[in-house]
Amino acid sequence: MRLSQMLFVTLRDDPADAEIPSHKLLLRAGYIRRIGSGVYAYLPLMWRVLQKVSQIVREEMNATGAQECLLPQLQPADLWKESGRWDTYTKAEGIMFSLIDRREQQLGLGPTHEEVVTTIARDMIRSYRQLPLNLYQLQTKFRDEIRPRFGLMRGREFIMKDGYSFHVDEDSLKATYQDMYQAYSNMLRRSGLAFRAVDADSGAIGGSGSTEFMVLAEAGEDEVLYTEDGKYAANVEKAVSLPADAVTSQFTTHEKRDTPGTDTIETVCKFLNCSPSQVVKNVLYQTVYDNGKTVLVLISIRGDQEVNEVKLQNELTKLAPNYGAKTIISLTVPNAEAQQTWAAKSLPLGYIAPDIADEYIKGDKQVHPKFLRFVDQTAVDLNNFVTGANETGYHVVGANWGEQFKLPELVVDIRKARPGDRAQHNPEQTLQSARGIEVGHIFQLGTKYSVAMGATYTNEQGEEKPLVMGCYGVGVSRLAQSAVEQSYDKDGIIWPVAIAPYHAIVTIPNIKDAQQVEIAEKLYRELNQAGIETLLDDRDERAGVKFKDADLIGIPYRIVTGRAIANGKVEVVERATRQSQEIDIQEVTSTIKQWIAAAI
Ligand code: ATP
Ligand code: MG
Repeated sequence: MRLSQMLFVTLRDDPADAEIPSHKLLLRAGYIRRIGSGVYAYLPLMWRVLQKVSQIVREEMNATGAQECLLPQLQPADLWKESGRWDTYTKAEGIMFSLIDRREQQLGLGPTHEEVVTTIARDMIRSYRQLPLNLYQLQTKFRDEIRPRFGLMRGREFIMKDGYSFHVDEDSLKATYQDMYQAYSNMLRRSGLAFRAVDADSGAIGGSGSTEFMVLAEAGEDEVLYTEDGKYAANVEKAVSLPADAVTSQFTTHEKRDTPGTDTIETVCKFLNCSPSQVVKNVLYQTVYDNGKTVLVLISIRGDQEVNEVKLQNELTKLAPNYGAKTIISLTVPNAEAQQTWAAKSLPLGYIAPDIADEYIKGDKQVHPKFLRFVDQTAVDLNNFVTGANETGYHVVGANWGEQFKLPELVVDIRKARPGDRAQHNPEQTLQSARGIEVGHIFQLGTKYSVAMGATYTNEQGEEKPLVMGCYGVGVSRLAQSAVEQSYDKDGIIWPVAIAPYHAIVTIPNIKDAQQVEIAEKLYRELNQAGIETLLDDRDERAGVKFKDADLIGIPYRIVTGRAIANGKVEVVERATRQSQEIDIQEVTSTIKQWIAAAI
């Protein structure tokens, strides 16, 4: 392609609305254009990158025996009502765009395709003989994200490869999951990315597990905790660890103490001259279930630890049936205003004990009359602890479970793992922290959708069983931008060769010089004929401008038909290393061909 004929507009300055390097660079280099909030046009250079990533994804998926298809983006609401997801996806913080057609029928724009694919399986899969089956598609997804940002990283319209597999049992699912794990690792490695596969939260869906593929970068929205020995890596939402040892308590007798103005762990520890690890902290949450019922949750946890809200949410979802509900729709720390709706009298906030009376709750049809009490293992293990006295300005010291306080029945792991914690698999290893961009997520779904939607098959014994499912997603457009986030310098993008829009660019320093033009044209033809995707910068611009643009757009190899042509040579510069060398004109094509082969 000739630059003189391309839609090629680069910007010198950083666009105002871009925060992270990759977003700035893709805008400046003319790869993308913002059309609306979270909505971008992929311009020709970007489209080539996206097609290269898609091709790698296809090859790796096809190699596992998965089959490509294309499912509809317009999805009838009825399907989502069958799975029970219509309300959660369209109301409150739901992310599905929905609309009503001229026949007054409700539709949604696909944020994901479990419902569509499960209805197909329900209609078409009858027998175990048809299983396992693995379908995938590459498609634009729509999600009305609460905070679209960082360009293609979190768009409201973006490209995803999503895949769904169907099985007779968990063993078959696990085998395919393992193949997907391998395929995803291959995709990312081939795309030139440094990544980590991490244990991830499977949420309330349960199932036997899920793995996220994280591209390591400072701008990542996720935190990954890992050990140096490479044996453990998890999203902080899911991570487990051994907490630091608690300091032995100096309070050997139980006493109520006057502790004025100590409504935080920090102030009470200062006042009593003790360690936060000797305190049982009691944290209040408020959750609303999908049937509208509010439940007040009290968590007792060691004072130096924090509650992991994702783990808490999972515990609350598991208990939904106890409240006649299926799932939770919100989880908050109640503020003064929220308390007015359910508190019978004002709570001694900052001084709450694990046994605070249920009488504080003004129970009614909407509000469950009792606290749901959890205790984290870190608090269970404490002796002679400090905790609130259920009275403003007072604490108790030297308290014990089974003596002053009854241990709550629900003992859970609800603690946030932190960098510096010891690892469970080997206490000599400590957890380290890194930022990651989630580019892929693979999931053992189990029978959630097949049971909800009645998708069954007949097994060898002639019995009807629900299909066991897995699902596998990779963000194609997010992956492409992540590559830039991992690889750039002050002058611009440095594309990994495998996904660069072009391999090479031939730059003519002075288009008024007939010999420069002639050699450049010849090389341009020759390189393209040899399968090296090549641009020709034949614009009537100063050489400096052309070099700057070539650096900015990040093409791996630049060939300059400058002074060296007098000696039958051209200058060849590698973008990543900036190494420059003069190569005989006859040898340019074969040399670059070798370099590309070595790089991908
Ligand atoms: P996130 O936690 O980042 O919102 P998610 O858990 O919603 O992601 P999935 O539903 O598992 O993501 O989707 C599969 C993949 O699609 C993700 O791993 C990510 O690469 C990509 N993806 C998800 N949401 C977006 C988005 N708004 N813009 C671009 N890519 C996205
Ligand atoms: Mg999301």
